[in-house]
Amino acid sequence: MQVLILGSGQLARMMALAGAPLNIDVIAYDVTTDRVVHPLTQAYYDLTLGDAIAQVQVITAEFEHIPYDVLDLCAASGKFQPNPEAIKAGGDRRLEKALLDRAGVANAKYQLVASRQDLEQAINHVGLPMVLKSALGGYDGKGQWRLKTAEQADAIWDEMAEFLTATPNQAIVAEEFVPFDREVSLIGARDVEGNVAVYPITENVHVNGVLNLSTAVMGNEAVQQQARDMFAAIANSLNYVGVLAIEFFDVAGNLLVNEIAPRVHNSGHWTQQGADTCQFENHLRAVCGLPLGSTQLIRPTAMINILGEDSLADAVYAQTNCHVHWYGKERRAGRKMGHINVSAESAAHLEQALAIIGRHLDAQAFPALPREMAYAVD
Ligand code: ATP
Ligand code: MG
Repeated sequence: MQVLILGSGQLARMMALAGAPLNIDVIAYDVTTDRVVHPLTQAYYDLTLGDAIAQVQVITAEFEHIPYDVLDLCAASGKFQPNPEAIKAGGDRRLEKALLDRAGVANAKYQLVASRQDLEQAINHVGLPMVLKSALGGYDGKGQWRLKTAEQADAIWDEMAEFLTATPNQAIVAEEFVPFDREVSLIGARDVEGNVAVYPITENVHVNGVLNLSTAVMGNEAVQQQARDMFAAIANSLNYVGVLAIEFFDVAGNLLVNEIAPRVHNSGHWTQQGADTCQFENHLRAVCGLPLGSTQLIRPTAMINILGEDSLADAVYAQTNCHVHWYGKERRAGRKMGHINVSAESAAHLEQALAIIGRHLDAQAFPALPREMAYAVD
């Protein structure tokens, strides 16, 4: 079985690695260079996108910012999963908000803003403080503004107006600022028959809008159930096939959906060491029409993002139950270069393991890691 992935970054790479034992051969399409490449070596194949579409049995995606003509071409082959509507919603906050409303899942109050007058209305309707987000092209907290007081509105509007004219079809979604207690995400899979399997929820720490640390959370049944129900509502409404990630704000135990990602997700990388079947394998299983693998947690696991660094101390590699995953990318400040999965026999031991690893990692590059042990465990 051969699968074409739209996008040739680390997610395609990790799907290729997960597919190999199942004899699933992955090739990737680099949207920016219009080349079909090997997802591990990035070597070019002598194939056009059209050739690759004709050659493979299944087509899927590793990211949502795909030009609509490419997406439509792939969908027309009848080989593309998940539903292109899901990819489009993941890449456009207007469609995403409409999808969440249609699926009946709780999300932050919002209003579309296209003019200074709309912004004034949003201040009244959505309230202050608010978060203003670009509809297209946002990731890692980019294309966002915070409006705290009405006096800042003119200055922020000037900035946004310039931004709006820079990209065709761009828009702004004004959203209420949610005073969340924590951010969690749910990664799950839906197969071609509509069966759903979800992983335990993951608690996520972002620093400056970028994910730093994700920890699988056990024993939070009420929140897990809410997240699962919302997952099923969204995935079923899209007749979704594949892995889908949902980011939530947790406000006193009540979840609001922040956004969806119609693909494998950074906050699910811990499943490589912590779950029976990792998210990458389950995505391939789903889109290839195989049964889903078990999503059960096998041991408490956390994931640390490696941002802008291309080496780690030997002491990190030497740590028990610590797995380093590099993405083979050239170093750039703040860039996602790899991640570290850390597992332990209990949640308390995991906290301890993170604190030990934290002492071998630069505090500026890894700000979310604990460095002191909260309490001693034997
Ligand atoms: P990514 O694609 O990397 O997940 P993004 O650029 O798509 O990020 P969001 O997830 O919408 O953007 O926002 C980034 C972070 O900003 C969130 O994880 C959260 O910490 C904060 N944030 C976003 N929206 C709100 C809100 N309405 N209220 C409070 N904080 C928010
Ligand atoms: Mg996000």
